[in-house]
Parts: sequence; C-alpha cells; structure tokens
Amino acid sequence: MTTALFTHPDAERHITPPGHAEQVARQAAVLDALADLPLDRREAPRADEVEILRCHPQSYLDRIRGAIPDEGWQMLDADTHLSPGSLDAALRGAGGAVAAVDAVLAGEVANAFVAMRPPGHHAERETPMGFCIFGNAAIAAMRALDHHGLDRVAVLDFDVHHGNGTQALLWDERRAFFASSHQMPLYPGTGAAGERGAHGQMVNVPLRPGTDGAAGQAAWRDILARCRDFAPQLVIVSAGFDAHAADPLAQLNWDDDDFAAITRMICDMAADLSAPVVSCLEGGYDLDALGRSARAHVQVLLEAQE
Ligand SMILES: [Zn+2]
Repeated sequence: MTTALFTHPDAERHITPPGHAEQVARQAAVLDALADLPLDRREAPRADEVEILRCHPQSYLDRIRGAIPDEGWQMLDADTHLSPGSLDAALRGAGGAVAAVDAVLAGEVANAFVAMRPPGHHAERETPMGFCIFGNAAIAAMRALDHHGLDRVAVLDFDVHHGNGTQALLWDERRAFFASSHQMPLYPGTGAAGERGAHGQMVNVPLRPGTDGAAGQAAWRDILARCRDFAPQLVIVSAGFDAHAADPLAQLNWDDDDFAAITRMICDMAADLSAPVVSCLEGGYDLDALGRSARAHVQVLLEAQE
C-alpha cells in the first residue's frame, strides 16, 4: 500500500483577484513540491450533492451555484470570491476528500493527501468565508460516519487560523472529535479554549503571536493525548501550512520540520489505533514555504505507511 494524492486541474480554475493571498499559484507550488514522490496519483472527483448536503443545506448549494459569474468575480465576502470555475474546483475539493476517505477505508491505500483549492475549514453551514466554499474536512468526516458507518472520527486542524467552519459543522456531532491549534488574536476570532463542542468533544488551543515550533509541537502532544482517548477509527487532517514563519498572513514561527514532526505525531497515534489518515490542504500563503512544508508533511505520510 502507498499514499494516495487526490488532485485535479480544476483547482486552478478557481481564480481570485490580483494580489489575493489564496492565489492560483498555490496549487503548482504544492504539486511541484510533490512531483518526484512515489504517490498513487488519483483524480479528485466532483462531490455528489448528497455529500455536500450532509453539511450544507440545499439552499446554500443553490445560492453558490447561482452566484457563479460568467466572467470576472462574484464577491461573497471581503475575501471570498467566486470565478467561473470556482464551483467545479470547490466540488472537487470536497469530492477529493470523500474519495480519499473511501480509498483508505477500502484499504486501497494506507493514507491520502488531497491537494485542492479553495480551502474549506472556514465555510459554515450557510456562510462561505475566509476563502472557503464547502467544509471539505467536515464533509469527509460525515461521509465516514453516515455512509461507512464509523462510530468515531477525528478532525485535526493545524492551520494557523481557527477552523471555525469545521467546528460549526461538527459542533453537535458526538461521533466527531475536533481539535484546532491556531494563532489568537487572528482571523476569524473564534477558537477560545472554552469552545468545547456540544458533547465536550472539541479541543481548541489558541497560541500567542510569535509561538515557535517547539511550543507548537508541545500543543499537539497534548491535543493528541486527548484524541487518543477518543479512539478515532479515522483521522482527517486539515493541513494548513500558514503557521510557517515565512507566511504573510500570520505571526507564528514554525518551520518545515515542525510540520513534519506534528504530522509524525499524528501518524504515530493513528497507527497505534489502526486508524487511517486523510489529509486535506487548507492554507499556506508563502509559496516556497507552502511547497516545502507540504512536501515535508506528505513525506511523513509516505514513511508512515512503510
Ligand atoms: Zn489559514
């Protein structure tokens, strides 16, 4: 078995206005960095409506579909835009995550990385925000719970921004553990330690600006001890690489090796629990740091399945 890479060229058809941090070039930065790795390369399919509707109402999907412009951009909020290709890109982001869950649970691959954009962890039930359209990680978790019948799934989010969307989508879901480390104060402003989910199944670890990688790793050691107690049967990672010191949107001081170390801790826990890992790309806005960090992350996924 190996590590699957789910992606699709439609990721580059989601086009943001000039100067936008969540730019088309992010996709090539990630894929180029993974180009020589021995991955099982697979197409990210468009998610079926039923997958989206596990997390978002029909009215929301219809609204997004109706807002797709014939040319140029449609602004959904101050920093979230739709271009003519955005629906296909977003559907393949969610669909790639669903397909990755299916592939690891079928035992076809040991683990998987979904390299698509736009990211997903800020999208709430009826609110696109923070560059995100659909809640890919939550949609993947609900696929595992409601379609595959798993009892316990964990979503682990080390993006520098709080995964408010994933948290909102899974808040009432006692079968889903959610944990996020994130800089605070920072967009979107949620993620205080007191936010614990309707069943106490959520862990939020806000980090001060300037927090270094050693402190980040320590935070994840604590989070994973809690996660281990939950005993997930599947681990979904919201892999944002914007806690990197080079990132222009935040002020944490992690480096490539910190992402590798945290990924290794996640994979070690998952291996002990015989839980496969599905990782979905979220943020990361310095192109060089994004590529190097994503590569470090995926290399650990590859080592983990050997
Ligand atoms: Zn982020």
